[in-house]
Amino acid sequence: MLTRKQFCQSCLALMLAGCFAKAQPAAGRKEDIVHQEEEKEMKEKIIGACGIVCSACPTYIATSSDDDALRARTAQEWSQMYHADIQAVDINCDGCPSDGPRLFAHCLECEIRACAHGRKLVTCAPCPEYACRKLQEFFAMVPQARETLDGLRKQ
Ligand code: SF4
Ligand code: SF4
Repeated sequence: MLTRKQFCQSCLALMLAGCFAKAQPAAGRKEDIVHQEEEKEMKEKIIGACGIVCSACPTYIATSSDDDALRARTAQEWSQMYHADIQAVDINCDGCPSDGPRLFAHCLECEIRACAHGRKLVTCAPCPEYACRKLQEFFAMVPQARETLDGLRKQ
């Protein structure tokens, strides 16, 4: 089975382009308008405890749209990438903030998620220990997740 590190790397590789990317403001826009738009965009995203954007994850998209073709494609891609046996039926997840029961197996075991939820936090952004050692290790693999959580902390 793929490790947490491998899974997070897979998220980066497989999530839709731009899932972590900030919207590029048009030239000449005033800073406060850009800031408001970024805040609105952040609020519309479903963000995992670690900063992964679940709403851009193919597993989340396949689940929310009940898209069996995307389930099959994601299972095949993740299986090939990680030499793991992931079936289309495994591709069901309502996102990290969800209490389940539909949560991708590896995310269900994620220690960052368990820690944040144990502290009654949806994400690590408001944690007084931000960014703790395990989060820093994760950020080293997925620097975009830090950008996402740092963005939340500024709000
Ligand atoms: S919790 Fe679910 S939606 Fe979020 S990254 Fe993991 S598999 Fe994707
Ligand atoms: S200690 Fe805080 S920052 Fe670290 S994983 Fe737990 S909730 Fe997240």
